[in-house]
Amino acid sequence: MPRPDFPRSLREFQRRFADEEACRLYLAASRWPDGYRCPRCGFGDALELPTRLLWRCKKCGRDTSVTAATVLHRTHTPLTQWFWAAYLITTHTPGMSALQLQRQLGIRRYETAWTMLQKLRRAMLRPRREPLRGTVEVDETYIGNQEGLRGGRELGDRALVVGAVEVRGRASGRVRLQAVPNASGASLTGFVKANVELATIVISDGWQGYAPLSGMGYRHRPKTQGRPERAEVILPRVHRVFGNLKTWLRGTHHGVEAKHLQAYLDEFTFRFNRRRTPMAAFQTLLGLGAQRAPITYNQLYGVE
Ligand SMILES: [Zn+2]
Repeated sequence: MPRPDFPRSLREFQRRFADEEACRLYLAASRWPDGYRCPRCGFGDALELPTRLLWRCKKCGRDTSVTAATVLHRTHTPLTQWFWAAYLITTHTPGMSALQLQRQLGIRRYETAWTMLQKLRRAMLRPRREPLRGTVEVDETYIGNQEGLRGGRELGDRALVVGAVEVRGRASGRVRLQAVPNASGASLTGFVKANVELATIVISDGWQGYAPLSGMGYRHRPKTQGRPERAEVILPRVHRVFGNLKTWLRGTHHGVEAKHLQAYLDEFTFRFNRRRTPMAAFQTLLGLGAQRAPITYNQLYGVE
Protein backbone atom coordinates (compact mmCIF):
# COMPACT_ATOMS: atom_id res chain seq x y z
CA MET A 1 0.00 0.00 0.00
CA PRO A 2 1.35 3.48 -0.77
CA ARG A 3 1.58 6.08 1.94
CA PRO A 4 -1.64 8.04 2.39
CA ASP A 5 -2.43 10.60 -0.21
CA PHE A 6 -2.78 14.29 0.46
CA PRO A 7 -5.82 16.55 0.36
CA ARG A 8 -6.46 18.23 -2.95
CA SER A 9 -8.38 21.26 -1.82
CA LEU A 10 -8.75 23.58 1.13
CA ARG A 11 -12.13 22.08 2.03
CA GLU A 12 -10.73 18.58 1.96
CA PHE A 13 -7.82 19.67 4.11
CA GLN A 14 -10.19 21.17 6.66
CA ARG A 15 -12.27 18.01 6.77
CA ARG A 16 -9.36 15.60 7.04
CA PHE A 17 -7.27 17.40 9.62
CA ALA A 18 -10.01 18.80 11.80
CA ASP A 19 -8.51 17.72 15.14
CA GLU A 20 -5.46 16.23 16.87
CA GLU A 21 -6.68 12.68 16.49
CA ALA A 22 -7.07 13.01 12.73
CA CYS A 23 -3.53 14.36 12.45
CA ARG A 24 -2.17 11.58 14.67
CA LEU A 25 -3.83 8.90 12.58
CA TYR A 26 -2.46 10.48 9.44
CA LEU A 27 1.04 10.42 10.93
CA ALA A 28 0.63 6.76 11.85
CA ALA A 29 -0.64 5.92 8.37
CA SER A 30 2.38 7.73 6.88
CA ARG A 31 4.75 5.85 9.17
CA TRP A 32 3.14 2.44 8.64
CA PRO A 33 1.38 2.44 5.26
CA ASP A 34 0.94 -1.33 5.56
CA GLY A 35 -0.31 -1.15 9.12
CA TYR A 36 1.57 -0.88 12.42
CA ARG A 37 4.48 -3.26 12.92
CA CYS A 38 6.63 -3.32 16.07
CA PRO A 39 10.26 -2.55 15.13
CA ARG A 40 11.49 -4.87 17.91
CA CYS A 41 9.30 -7.99 17.76
CA GLY A 42 7.28 -7.49 14.58
CA PHE A 43 3.93 -7.72 16.36
CA GLY A 44 1.08 -6.00 14.54
CA ASP A 45 -0.98 -4.50 17.34
CA ALA A 46 -0.27 -1.51 19.55
CA LEU A 47 -1.80 0.67 22.19
CA GLU A 48 -1.81 4.32 21.26
CA LEU A 49 -0.53 6.81 23.84
CA PRO A 50 -2.02 9.95 22.28
CA THR A 51 -0.58 12.63 24.54
CA ARG A 52 2.97 11.40 23.93
CA LEU A 53 2.47 10.50 20.28
CA LEU A 54 3.71 7.00 21.04
CA TRP A 55 2.52 3.58 20.01
CA ARG A 56 3.18 0.82 22.57
CA CYS A 57 3.56 -2.74 21.30
CA LYS A 58 0.92 -4.96 22.88
CA LYS A 59 3.31 -7.89 22.94
CA CYS A 60 6.73 -6.61 24.03
CA GLY A 61 5.86 -3.12 25.31
CA ARG A 62 8.26 -1.27 23.00
CA ASP A 63 7.27 2.39 22.46
CA THR A 64 7.56 3.80 18.94
CA SER A 65 7.19 7.49 18.19
CA VAL A 66 5.13 8.40 15.15
CA THR A 67 7.00 11.69 14.82
CA ALA A 68 10.63 10.45 14.91
CA ALA A 69 12.63 11.96 12.04
CA THR A 70 9.97 14.58 11.32
CA VAL A 71 9.87 18.27 12.25
CA LEU A 72 7.07 17.38 14.66
CA HIS A 73 9.30 15.38 16.97
CA ARG A 74 8.93 16.45 20.63
CA THR A 75 6.78 19.39 19.69
CA HIS A 76 4.56 21.11 22.24
CA THR A 77 2.61 22.84 19.50
CA PRO A 78 -0.67 21.16 18.50
CA LEU A 79 -0.42 18.95 15.42
CA THR A 80 -3.33 20.75 13.77
CA GLN A 81 -1.30 23.94 13.95
CA TRP A 82 1.72 22.27 12.36
CA PHE A 83 -0.40 20.77 9.59
CA TRP A 84 -1.97 24.13 8.85
CA ALA A 85 1.39 25.87 8.89
CA ALA A 86 2.88 23.37 6.41
CA TYR A 87 -0.23 23.71 4.29
CA LEU A 88 -0.12 27.50 4.24
CA ILE A 89 3.57 27.67 3.54
CA THR A 90 3.42 25.24 0.63
CA THR A 91 0.24 26.48 -1.00
CA HIS A 92 0.78 30.19 -0.51
CA THR A 93 2.83 30.60 -3.66
CA PRO A 94 5.16 33.45 -2.77
CA GLY A 95 5.92 32.06 0.66
CA MET A 96 5.17 33.52 4.03
CA SER A 97 6.69 35.63 6.78
CA ALA A 98 6.52 34.61 10.45
CA LEU A 99 4.15 37.49 11.10
CA GLN A 100 1.77 36.36 8.36
CA LEU A 101 1.85 32.84 9.73
CA GLN A 102 1.15 34.07 13.26
CA ARG A 103 -1.84 36.08 12.05
CA GLN A 104 -3.26 33.40 9.78
CA LEU A 105 -3.18 30.72 12.47
CA GLY A 106 -3.94 32.96 15.41
CA ILE A 107 -0.75 31.86 17.18
CA ARG A 108 -0.36 33.81 20.39
CA ARG A 109 3.41 34.18 20.48
CA TYR A 110 5.39 35.48 17.52
CA GLU A 111 8.35 33.29 18.61
CA THR A 112 6.28 30.13 18.15
CA ALA A 113 5.36 31.10 14.60
CA TRP A 114 8.95 32.05 13.87
CA THR A 115 10.31 28.71 15.15
CA MET A 116 7.75 26.73 13.16
CA LEU A 117 8.55 28.66 10.03
CA GLN A 118 12.29 28.11 10.49
CA LYS A 119 11.84 24.36 10.94
CA LEU A 120 9.56 24.06 7.93
CA ARG A 121 11.93 26.15 5.85
CA ARG A 122 14.83 23.93 6.79
CA ALA A 123 12.81 20.97 5.55
CA MET A 124 12.63 22.72 2.18
CA LEU A 125 16.40 22.79 1.93
CA ARG A 126 17.06 19.10 1.93
CA PRO A 127 14.48 17.22 -0.04
CA ARG A 128 15.74 14.19 -1.91
CA ARG A 129 16.82 15.40 -5.29
CA GLU A 130 16.93 13.46 -8.50
CA PRO A 131 19.27 14.95 -11.10
CA LEU A 132 17.81 16.94 -13.99
CA ARG A 133 17.70 15.08 -17.29
CA GLY A 134 16.52 15.13 -20.88
CA THR A 135 17.43 18.53 -22.27
CA VAL A 136 18.56 21.27 -19.91
CA GLU A 137 19.23 25.00 -20.31
CA VAL A 138 22.06 26.42 -18.19
CA ASP A 139 23.05 30.05 -17.67
CA GLU A 140 24.16 32.52 -14.98
CA THR A 141 22.69 35.75 -13.67
CA TYR A 142 23.66 38.40 -11.13
CA ILE A 143 21.61 39.09 -8.02
CA GLY A 144 22.34 42.60 -6.82
CA ASN A 145 21.06 45.77 -5.17
CA GLN A 146 17.89 45.73 -7.22
CA GLU A 147 16.94 42.45 -5.57
CA GLY A 148 17.81 43.89 -2.18
CA LEU A 149 21.01 41.88 -1.71
CA ARG A 150 22.78 43.05 1.44
CA GLY A 151 26.13 42.37 3.03
CA GLY A 152 27.71 40.98 -0.08
CA ARG A 153 30.85 43.00 0.18
CA GLU A 154 33.19 40.06 -0.27
CA LEU A 155 31.35 39.31 -3.52
CA GLY A 156 31.38 42.87 -4.72
CA ASP A 157 27.85 44.24 -4.41
CA ARG A 158 26.32 41.41 -6.35
CA ALA A 159 26.27 37.62 -6.29
CA LEU A 160 26.51 35.27 -9.23
CA VAL A 161 23.87 32.56 -9.49
CA VAL A 162 23.98 29.68 -11.95
CA GLY A 163 20.74 27.97 -12.92
CA ALA A 164 19.60 24.90 -14.86
CA VAL A 165 16.09 24.22 -16.13
CA GLU A 166 14.69 21.16 -17.88
CA VAL A 167 13.16 21.72 -21.31
CA ARG A 168 9.66 20.23 -21.42
CA GLY A 169 8.33 21.11 -24.85
CA ARG A 170 7.82 24.84 -24.70
CA ALA A 171 7.46 24.76 -20.94
CA SER A 172 9.91 24.22 -18.09
CA GLY A 173 10.39 21.13 -15.95
CA ARG A 174 12.43 21.19 -12.77
CA VAL A 175 15.01 23.76 -11.80
CA ARG A 176 18.26 23.95 -9.79
CA LEU A 177 19.94 27.15 -8.60
CA GLN A 178 23.29 27.71 -6.95
CA ALA A 179 25.28 30.73 -5.82
CA VAL A 180 28.82 30.41 -7.19
CA PRO A 181 31.97 32.46 -6.47
CA ASN A 182 32.69 33.16 -10.16
CA ALA A 183 31.95 32.10 -13.72
CA SER A 184 35.03 29.92 -14.05
CA GLY A 185 34.91 26.53 -15.72
CA ALA A 186 35.31 24.83 -12.33
CA SER A 187 32.32 26.69 -10.82
CA LEU A 188 29.99 26.17 -13.77
CA THR A 189 30.83 22.60 -14.70
CA GLY A 190 30.89 21.68 -11.00
CA PHE A 191 27.30 22.90 -10.75
CA VAL A 192 26.23 20.93 -13.81
CA LYS A 193 27.94 17.78 -12.56
CA ALA A 194 26.21 18.02 -9.17
CA ASN A 195 22.74 18.65 -10.61
CA VAL A 196 22.40 17.19 -14.09
CA GLU A 197 22.48 13.55 -15.13
CA LEU A 198 25.32 12.48 -17.46
CA ALA A 199 24.51 12.26 -21.20
CA THR A 200 21.89 15.00 -20.82
CA ILE A 201 21.74 17.58 -23.62
CA VAL A 202 23.01 20.82 -22.05
CA ILE A 203 22.26 24.07 -23.87
CA SER A 204 24.37 27.06 -22.83
CA ASP A 205 25.64 30.25 -24.38
CA GLY A 206 29.08 30.37 -25.97
CA TRP A 207 30.97 31.18 -22.75
CA GLN A 208 34.16 29.09 -22.53
CA GLY A 209 33.44 28.17 -18.91
CA TYR A 210 30.99 25.59 -20.26
CA ALA A 211 33.40 24.18 -22.85
CA PRO A 212 34.65 21.25 -20.68
CA LEU A 213 31.11 19.78 -20.50
CA SER A 214 31.38 17.68 -23.64
CA GLY A 215 34.55 16.08 -22.31
CA MET A 216 32.71 15.26 -19.07
CA GLY A 217 30.06 13.10 -20.73
CA TYR A 218 27.36 15.68 -21.48
CA ARG A 219 25.93 16.39 -24.92
CA HIS A 220 26.86 20.04 -24.85
CA ARG A 221 25.13 22.40 -27.32
CA PRO A 222 26.70 25.85 -26.96
CA LYS A 223 24.79 28.60 -28.76
CA THR A 224 26.54 31.76 -29.78
CA GLN A 225 24.51 34.61 -28.43
CA GLY A 226 26.10 37.71 -29.98
CA ARG A 227 24.41 40.61 -28.19
CA PRO A 228 23.63 40.04 -24.48
CA GLU A 229 19.88 40.56 -25.05
CA ARG A 230 19.88 37.46 -27.21
CA ALA A 231 20.42 35.27 -24.13
CA GLU A 232 16.67 35.42 -23.45
CA VAL A 233 15.98 34.15 -26.95
CA ILE A 234 18.40 31.24 -27.00
CA LEU A 235 17.80 30.25 -23.35
CA PRO A 236 14.22 31.36 -22.68
CA ARG A 237 13.31 28.98 -19.86
CA VAL A 238 16.25 29.62 -17.58
CA HIS A 239 15.84 33.38 -18.12
CA ARG A 240 12.17 33.14 -17.21
CA VAL A 241 13.19 31.42 -13.98
CA PHE A 242 15.77 34.12 -13.26
CA GLY A 243 13.06 36.75 -13.78
CA ASN A 244 10.65 34.98 -11.41
CA LEU A 245 13.40 34.52 -8.85
CA LYS A 246 14.26 38.22 -8.85
CA THR A 247 10.64 39.27 -8.55
CA TRP A 248 10.21 36.85 -5.66
CA LEU A 249 13.33 38.06 -3.84
CA ARG A 250 12.25 41.69 -4.24
CA GLY A 251 8.58 41.23 -3.48
CA THR A 252 8.29 38.66 -0.72
CA HIS A 253 11.42 39.13 1.24
CA HIS A 254 12.26 42.81 0.81
CA GLY A 255 15.93 42.05 0.59
CA VAL A 256 18.21 39.15 1.31
CA GLU A 257 21.43 38.79 3.27
CA ALA A 258 24.16 37.57 0.93
CA LYS A 259 25.15 34.83 3.36
CA HIS A 260 21.57 33.46 3.27
CA LEU A 261 21.18 33.66 -0.49
CA GLN A 262 21.59 29.90 -1.04
CA ALA A 263 18.81 29.13 1.46
CA TYR A 264 16.48 31.44 -0.49
CA LEU A 265 17.52 29.81 -3.76
CA ASP A 266 16.70 26.41 -2.26
CA GLU A 267 13.30 27.59 -1.06
CA PHE A 268 12.53 29.04 -4.48
CA THR A 269 13.61 25.73 -6.06
CA PHE A 270 11.44 23.71 -3.68
CA ARG A 271 8.38 25.80 -4.53
CA PHE A 272 9.07 25.95 -8.25
CA ASN A 273 9.57 22.20 -8.58
CA ARG A 274 6.31 21.53 -6.75
CA ARG A 275 4.29 24.30 -8.30
CA ARG A 276 1.83 21.85 -9.83
CA THR A 277 1.43 19.78 -6.66
CA PRO A 278 1.61 22.10 -3.65
CA MET A 279 -0.50 19.72 -1.61
CA ALA A 280 2.08 16.96 -1.96
CA ALA A 281 4.73 19.38 -0.75
CA PHE A 282 3.12 19.66 2.67
CA GLN A 283 3.94 16.00 3.36
CA THR A 284 7.55 16.64 2.43
CA LEU A 285 7.71 19.64 4.74
CA LEU A 286 6.39 17.73 7.70
CA GLY A 287 9.05 15.10 7.04
CA LEU A 288 6.49 12.41 6.33
CA GLY A 289 8.05 11.53 3.01
CA ALA A 290 11.39 10.68 4.59
CA GLN A 291 10.06 7.49 6.11
CA ARG A 292 9.01 5.99 2.83
CA ALA A 293 10.23 6.13 -0.73
CA PRO A 294 9.60 9.75 -1.72
CA ILE A 295 7.31 10.61 -4.55
CA THR A 296 9.25 10.17 -7.76
CA TYR A 297 9.53 12.76 -10.43
CA ASN A 298 7.18 10.83 -12.66
CA GLN A 299 4.50 10.48 -10.01
CA LEU A 300 4.82 14.16 -9.30
CA TYR A 301 4.43 15.25 -12.88
CA GLY A 302 2.32 12.38 -14.13
CA VAL A 303 4.65 11.61 -17.03
CA GLU A 304 5.66 8.26 -18.54
ZN1 LIG B 1 6.92 -5.53 20.10
